[in-house]
Amino acid sequence: MIELYRELKQKTGSHSPSLFELKRNFPDLQIEVDACFLSNPYATELFLSELDRDLTLNKKKIRDILEFYPSQNQTLAIQIAKFAGVTENNVFVCNGATEGIKAIFDNLITKGTLLLPIPTFSPYYEFASSEIKVSHLNLNKEENYLFNTNSILEAVQNSQANHLCLISPNNPNGTFLPYPDLISLISKLTHLDTIILDESFSHFALKDDELDQNIYYKLIHDFPNLVIVKSMSKDFGIAGIRAGYLISSEKNIELINPKNFLWNINGFGEYFFDLYLNPEFQKLYRKERLRYNNELQKFSTELSQLEGIKVYPGNANFFLVEILNGKTADDIFFELLFHHGVYVRTCYDKIGLSGEFLRIACRSEVENELIIRALQKVLSH
Ligand SMILES: *Cc1c(COP(=O)(O)O)cnc(C)c1O
Repeated sequence: MIELYRELKQKTGSHSPSLFELKRNFPDLQIEVDACFLSNPYATELFLSELDRDLTLNKKKIRDILEFYPSQNQTLAIQIAKFAGVTENNVFVCNGATEGIKAIFDNLITKGTLLLPIPTFSPYYEFASSEIKVSHLNLNKEENYLFNTNSILEAVQNSQANHLCLISPNNPNGTFLPYPDLISLISKLTHLDTIILDESFSHFALKDDELDQNIYYKLIHDFPNLVIVKSMSKDFGIAGIRAGYLISSEKNIELINPKNFLWNINGFGEYFFDLYLNPEFQKLYRKERLRYNNELQKFSTELSQLEGIKVYPGNANFFLVEILNGKTADDIFFELLFHHGVYVRTCYDKIGLSGEFLRIACRSEVENELIIRALQKVLSH
């Protein structure tokens, strides 16, 4: 089983095999919890209940979604722009944020030096062409892998970077730059060509009022080098639909998306975006977000009380966990998966981490109990 898993993992590169791949290859394996993927399951349930209500009442609607072309990319950009308080020329709607990141490296960041804090989300160095020098900034283990704005400024200078990538909260450790620190940092970096700000996990870190005002999107007016990357997969628990967008200056968006993608968002993607832009849905979503973020606090406390591990501080919906009881992260990973049906993320392929690390996502209340109980067992012998 372990060998087969290793083969699968090899094929998926620096990402983890999906739940579907696991089920295809281990048909007898009972997976109880997927804590490898990083989403809010309550938001998924909300989306499902909307879909269910809407589509059972109106069977024709699902047929329409399947049978007809969805709206074009630029039509959706108009809607999202209104919501985000920018113009449609500031928006690129993408088939998952990953497509947006790919477009950034195909069309916008094509040469020069990119400063990339590590550990990180692997597409940010894997999509960079060989023309780009990727300069790593090792987040410091002694500082718990937290962002340190002085170190970032120093590294920009030392590496003579033209571009900087900030993921906040960062994946895989959740370190977050609060708004005042972010502003102070990017104000000192107006000479850079590009600053990517990946906010894919922001809904787990931001307070209510901060989220409502979309204060981050407005920054593109003062900072034309800023490119905001937003995935819908994690906050809304809909990775299967593939929906995300970029927000940046008109000039950057024109470069990133020179020829319109037309129908890169499918009918269900459009269905989701319609909901996303609907104030009634936003109200319901807000409740599920707060409910999940409460669960997240509880999970964090319970995880921190376990012996034999260190839980690193972060503001995302997952935790970077170091194994300190003498076992390897792989030992714990396989035992969790094959004996307890709990799927987490090993981090041996994450550059910039030294030690035995797992990344464990917060799930629903019931699933979190399973995760904690399984970890207790696995760590106690
Ligand atoms: C998951 C992830 C993405 C991409 O998500 P999509 O599913 O492609 O929208 C982008 N950035 C970070 C930091 C991520 O963790």
